[in-house]
Amino acid sequence: MIYTLPPLPYASDALEPRISKETIEYHYGKHLQTYIDNLNNLIAGTPYEEMQIETLIMTTSGPIFNNAAQVWNHVFYFNSLSPVQVSMPLELKDYLIRDFGSVENFKEMFKKAAAGVFGSGWAWLAQDAEGKLVIIQESNAGNPMRNGFKPLLTIDVWEHAYYIDYRNRRAEYIDRCWELINWDKVVKRMHSDLPSAVTDVETVMVTETSRDGLTEAIAEAIIEDEKDMRKYVCVTCGWVYDPVEGDPENGVPPGTPFSELPEDWTCPACGVGKEYFEPEK
Ligand code: MN
Repeated sequence: MIYTLPPLPYASDALEPRISKETIEYHYGKHLQTYIDNLNNLIAGTPYEEMQIETLIMTTSGPIFNNAAQVWNHVFYFNSLSPVQVSMPLELKDYLIRDFGSVENFKEMFKKAAAGVFGSGWAWLAQDAEGKLVIIQESNAGNPMRNGFKPLLTIDVWEHAYYIDYRNRRAEYIDRCWELINWDKVVKRMHSDLPSAVTDVETVMVTETSRDGLTEAIAEAIIEDEKDMRKYVCVTCGWVYDPVEGDPENGVPPGTPFSELPEDWTCPACGVGKEYFEPEK
């Protein structure tokens, strides 16, 4: 599996003024991209390449865990935000009142937890195996699914998430970020079955259904099945089609696999059709 940067569900300036375009360009465009690149490099040619990202998070440690979890966490975070203010659904309010006494209490506790993460990390709203809502602080790349919780919402409190816009004022960033939370999404995540199965690593590794529930972040996200990026050679003249370069002069953008070339595409050197090409050996 090769991970690629998932599309951001809004324009890079859509969260302004709360989160600037510049922050998004660095945070999403550079930091997340780096975690993705690192993960790809770390798993290339290893059995980890065949595993789902949640399995990596549940079963690895060290650099693979760090980068896999950072990829997952960031996708989840960016997908938790909305440029349009979303009011909190009644259903969620009921659960928050049940588990935190009041919505206001929850808000205060969550913000306190986020502000209080020592160093770099994440604040989470998650659900335990019985469905109770809990607030969890995680350091560095931590993800509550490791302890059997189902993630519902996260705020990134690494400095790179706010330093450009808020400098060292983390609490102010959290307040503004709060106004961007997509509460509909939180409810949707509550209803997707899963990661309570995450308490049992075996289950996560073997069942497709648990995966479906678990991976909203992934489904929304990331991952492209490995494309056929082999070079193809024209058997008539020896010209080589390289998918990395494409054939821009003939309207084929870089990154186009041979199989996705238009049917009427022809060899730029000798003019024969696609059927005269073979994978490079
Ligand atoms: Mn981050």
